[in-house]
Amino acid sequence: MGKLYFFPGQGCLYYKHGHCLYEEVLNPGYNRHWQCKVLLKWEEEYDTLINQAEYFQLNPSQVEGIWEKRMARRMNFGWECKHYVPREGEEKCIYLYGNICILALPRCRGRCHLYQYEGFKTHIG
Ligand code: SF4
Ligand code: SF4
Repeated sequence: MGKLYFFPGQGCLYYKHGHCLYEEVLNPGYNRHWQCKVLLKWEEEYDTLINQAEYFQLNPSQVEGIWEKRMARRMNFGWECKHYVPREGEEKCIYLYGNICILALPRCRGRCHLYQYEGFKTHIG
């Protein structure tokens, strides 16, 4: 039997940069492995700061000030990810979808049975 070929998935509601959003849309945030590594690191650092703040009895505005300074310093070096590409006029990475990295999602293997024409629904960012 001959090899089966699928039409490209471009134009599908779930198609983003060659990857498939379907599983993420179905269970948002469920797969932690898909999280943006940069955001994950910042989240962990923030948690550490909160723990330290409790220990040193810092008030919320002190914590806020420390965090803002840290983030401002960090932004001088940009997002520490070799795949990072900024959106036009923004700091955000073009591969960021909510908290997840689109590059970590399964690749679209072509037009499958879940294909939905994006022209009919536009609720996916
Ligand atoms: S490519 Fe972008 S979204 Fe993906 S991990 Fe890197 S910075 Fe995060
Ligand atoms: S065609 Fe199928 S695999 Fe490709 S993005 Fe759409 S739902 Fe996902």
